[in-house]
Amino acid sequence: MTECGSKTGVGLELLFLGTGTSTGVPMIGCDCPTCVSDDPHDSRDRPSVVLRYPDRDAGITRDLLIDTTPDLRQQAIREGMTRCDGVFYTHAHADHIFGLDDLRRFNAVMQTPIDIYAEADTITTIRRIFPYIFEPHTNVNTSYVAQLIVHEIKPDQAMAMYGAMWTPLRVMHGRMPILGYRIDFEGVSIAYCTDVSTIPPQTYPQLQGVDVLVIDALRYRHHPTHMTVDQALAVIDQVQPKQAYFTHITHDILHADLSSRLPAGVALAHDGLHLTF
Ligand SMILES: [Zn+2]
Ligand SMILES: [Zn+2]
Ligand SMILES: [Zn+2]
Repeated sequence: MTECGSKTGVGLELLFLGTGTSTGVPMIGCDCPTCVSDDPHDSRDRPSVVLRYPDRDAGITRDLLIDTTPDLRQQAIREGMTRCDGVFYTHAHADHIFGLDDLRRFNAVMQTPIDIYAEADTITTIRRIFPYIFEPHTNVNTSYVAQLIVHEIKPDQAMAMYGAMWTPLRVMHGRMPILGYRIDFEGVSIAYCTDVSTIPPQTYPQLQGVDVLVIDALRYRHHPTHMTVDQALAVIDQVQPKQAYFTHITHDILHADLSSRLPAGVALAHDGLHLTF
């Protein structure tokens, strides 16, 4: 695995579009050391990743998104994204879905509808929040709206997707059951578990053997719906991935400070971090 800035890898790639908590970092109206830091690693958009890999059958490279944040437009422009071959949703909180509207630009660029995958509850909320997209016949004017094909998914039901295997994982976000994902592609496996406070015992077997675990590590102090740094480290200790990355990070954490104290094999993710395998 290497960190790189190129977009020409031939295997699986993981690109962090955002690694911040729901407010983003810096936060509006805050002058704490992290929010005024001039280290670019302390600037965190709302959390999302791209899984990029070659579709051997089609002879093209696919970009699959996890979540569509309110920052999606800037994230996609920053990373030079020109396609979106599907979106997997973790849950329907604002910081994970409010960029859904921007998918219409990928529709326009690619000239194709986009598949979106989510649990039933998440689909219900997305349909309620974006009725103009899903019930366009009720719109007063004809509008330029996203063209999306909705697929309901369930935990532990793995799906083959352009040559990769995607497995939705049950994780708990406080009392709310949401989804993490495990992605397996040509012998490399990545698990992405954001907005998680506990991982149910039955999910641990699905995490065994992953090369990379991306896990919520909100801050140092307890939070009812997110893991602390210490809780995330305990999960990493149990799962034993080759490498772990923290995400969904608040301004309580200064990148350089915590980075210097983490054990080998554990790091803070940062916006724009691009891993190739
Ligand atoms: Zn969140
Ligand atoms: Zn701050
Ligand atoms: Zn959430």
